[in-house]
Amino acid sequence: MNPILTLSAAELAQKIHSGELTSLEVTQAFLDRIADVDDQVHAFLNVNAEEALAVAAEVDADIAAGREVHPLAGVPIAIKDLIVTKGQPTTAGSKILEGWVSPYDATVIEKIRAAKLPILGKTNLDEFAMGSSTEHSAYGPTRNPWNLNKIPGGSGGGSAAAVAAFEAPFALGTDTGGSIRQPGAVTGTVGVKPTYGGVSRYGAIAMASSLDQIGPVTRTVEDAAMLQELIGGHDPKDSTSLPDPLEGLAEAARNSDLTGLRVGVITELGGEGYQEGVKNRFDESIELLRNAGAEIVEVSCPSFQYALGAYYLIMPSEASSNLAKFDGIRYGLRVLPENGPVTVETVMSATRAAGFGDEVKRRIILGTYALSAGYYDAYYGSAQKVRTLIQRDFDKAFEQADVLVSPTAPTTAFDLGAKLDDPLAMYLNDIATIPANLAGVPGISIPSGLAEEDSLPVGIQFLAPAKEDARLYRVAAGLEKLLEEKWGGPILAQAPRLDAAGSQASPSNITAGATQEGN
Ligand code: GLN
Repeated sequence: MNPILTLSAAELAQKIHSGELTSLEVTQAFLDRIADVDDQVHAFLNVNAEEALAVAAEVDADIAAGREVHPLAGVPIAIKDLIVTKGQPTTAGSKILEGWVSPYDATVIEKIRAAKLPILGKTNLDEFAMGSSTEHSAYGPTRNPWNLNKIPGGSGGGSAAAVAAFEAPFALGTDTGGSIRQPGAVTGTVGVKPTYGGVSRYGAIAMASSLDQIGPVTRTVEDAAMLQELIGGHDPKDSTSLPDPLEGLAEAARNSDLTGLRVGVITELGGEGYQEGVKNRFDESIELLRNAGAEIVEVSCPSFQYALGAYYLIMPSEASSNLAKFDGIRYGLRVLPENGPVTVETVMSATRAAGFGDEVKRRIILGTYALSAGYYDAYYGSAQKVRTLIQRDFDKAFEQADVLVSPTAPTTAFDLGAKLDDPLAMYLNDIATIPANLAGVPGISIPSGLAEEDSLPVGIQFLAPAKEDARLYRVAAGLEKLLEEKWGGPILAQAPRLDAAGSQASPSNITAGATQEGN
């Protein structure tokens, strides 16, 4: 494998800006990698080589001319296909938007273009970001690069798999209930849900507006911090955007002192239902933090047991309203009724019946029901009260601890198809990630090692009070360093190398201590 592919975004930027590499050769290396392995992984729905190479050439010209460039200029990026891009298709993983090209860029895309990061393409996702395995995509599932028979998590499985398969140095995702962090956990990548309002949602196709947040998908904590600094900040086009940018993120990632940090282990997010290897990696990480001078405390958040229930009322309620605009009239697909009169209603009905998949329909029906007169107070109203209780649990917990910690997901990646017919089993994957979205607080997942049962990656999640994203980067970078010492290098370095021939090294061939250049 081309050694360029395993460099972090920060390393690539440094080498491009010092003239050791050109953005053109870096971008080409990732495009070649996509051409070699994406027929196996299916992380991408659309690749735009021409545009990416044109931006790369521009950056190289800027550098040759001695012009000042952004710290990440020239480093290629992949974008979850829920984020609109002018001139390139955006599908949201749905048939209803097949062929639709946005007339405008999301704010995060404007920032990425202004900083001149070549956009490699758009990545696969569960339809409208509803799912935990990327199997609900209308364009077929993405596969986990660690084992092609396993799911890459969801909804942002495409972005996570692209980064884990070295098809992109980093990517953007969206996280409404865990769709950045849970795929991060099961693919051995770093995933961040910033504080609600920290990154503009303008141009992220809305799933549940009070929960949605765009964030980084990367291989290192420092890369995530740099990317969040690039995409974050106030945006007048997003009324929920924070007035001031969250600062000092990259600096916190580079300055990861753990001494005296109070780390709160959440009682309710662990124990029964969590896989043995997940629990073991978690306990080891806590021990590493303790040995490095962190103070470990136990905190209880009793209302978290109702988080999943509250989420699956609030999220579908907001989604049922947000998805009403896909009516066969304004965007994408239009299907005429097979029989009977052609009216606005019958076209709308035929289009939505043909254009939406089962999971999306399930949630629209659930949300419409929860919001309907007579049921509103019993369901939506109660869920909002639970949301307040969860926020209060967080407030109390953050009096006892600077950051909270839990496993990111209860299990490692499961087999494709294993939970497809069991929505509740699928929903349970987000049990540990959902509370952060309900409270608006930031969260990060980093790989903590491999489970002994299946040699698949495990994730650990940190949560911080709203606007304290820098604190998350500080603790995550600290643990990342300790874990690298323990595992003899980055955990992702142990991922099987896919090659163009389609062969895959079996996990038993892979030993701890392999370096990124190894295999
Ligand atoms: N998996 C969760 C769901 O299906 C979260 C989705 C997300 O964060 N976009 O709703």
